[in-house]
Amino acid sequence: MSLDVEAVRRDFPILATQSRGRPLVYLDSAASAQKPRAVIDAMSDFYAEHYANIHRGVYQLSAEATRRYEDVRVRVARFVGAPDPNEIVFVRNTTEAINLVARSFGDVQIGEGDEIVLTTMEHHSNIVPWQQLAERRGATIRVARIDDEGVLDLEHLASLLGPRAKILAITHVSNVLGTINPIREITALARERGVATVVDGAQAVPHQTVDVAGLGCDFYAFSGHKIFGPSGAGVLWGRMELLEAMPPFLGGGSMIETVSFEKTTWAKPPQRFEAGTPDIASVIGLGATIDYLAGIGMDAIDAWEHELLAYATDRLLEIPGLTIHGRAKDKAAVLSFALDVAHPHDVGTILDAEGVAIRAGHHCAQPLMEHLGVPATARASLAFYNTREDVDRLVAALVKTRELFG
Ligand code: PMP
Repeated sequence: MSLDVEAVRRDFPILATQSRGRPLVYLDSAASAQKPRAVIDAMSDFYAEHYANIHRGVYQLSAEATRRYEDVRVRVARFVGAPDPNEIVFVRNTTEAINLVARSFGDVQIGEGDEIVLTTMEHHSNIVPWQQLAERRGATIRVARIDDEGVLDLEHLASLLGPRAKILAITHVSNVLGTINPIREITALARERGVATVVDGAQAVPHQTVDVAGLGCDFYAFSGHKIFGPSGAGVLWGRMELLEAMPPFLGGGSMIETVSFEKTTWAKPPQRFEAGTPDIASVIGLGATIDYLAGIGMDAIDAWEHELLAYATDRLLEIPGLTIHGRAKDKAAVLSFALDVAHPHDVGTILDAEGVAIRAGHHCAQPLMEHLGVPATARASLAFYNTREDVDRLVAALVKTRELFG
């Protein structure tokens, strides 16, 4: 199935708008992706016609809202290859999912002198919760190296999975370099050594088919807003036997079985981890985005983005003085770059004046910036609604930036 990008673009109302008086070129989908009409409509329809709190009311509206919410769990499970819908925990975003694992799983599993293994290319959300855990428990953080192309050094990683290593937390796809890590191979290494694996899938799920069971990891986290869904709904997948053994993260309503002042008992997963009223409408929107993506086909999305990535890489490299950070062979459609004559923030500002939205900064990956020896990079991230014309506008704006600063 091939992708009709012009038809796709008509599904995203924002792509027909202007920025700085020019048709918008949106190249910041890695930060947050735009939303198709189907998602916007599903949420407004839910608020207009079907809204009530879930898991509580005996009345029809509440029962129906609960049914719709729980149905999304089933569709999410199918979408990411989770064997059991009850392994899908709704959270706000990837950050919350990783914090949940660090607290509920980490606090029990990690003790004095244990090691938590990360990689140089992690986002702050897959660093800070582990540092906090290490501090609470007297554990140590170890960091697997990457090479000059931005590829993980698997030998070094394997050498870190020693007897003290208990958790490996690793990104599936780097938000700066675009590198796709060989998660299946890595989880096999970890499993042999009894190390639990937590995968940050924030930048993987928007671009490719993900099969959590096939990947062989223990936990997998992603954000709805990066997969063209609403902000406020994210997903943690975890193996049921692990979730069942974990204490709650937050306490309150909906996560209990019984409460008395003497003793409270916990509900089974996933309710145990969903305290309080969730972002119900966003979960409904998440369901709509999954249906939308399934209709387009993740394989078609993957193929189009790879074509576009190859085109964008070639065109960017035509610009004198431009360096691309991250040249892994297995790479998602993220292009971080430096222009010799201008600071990334200046590049971002000039591009903005041309109606081209890119990101400039450290991308919540300061240790990686240090490794690259730069304070920041400019980053253009592509989604399946981007076109060759978008890339051409980017390149033209960069050529103009060079003329201004050069
Ligand atoms: N991990 C990666 C690789 C990311 O790119 C991001 C978002 N930039 C996150 C985690 C955090 O996602 P969120 O802000 O949705 O929690």
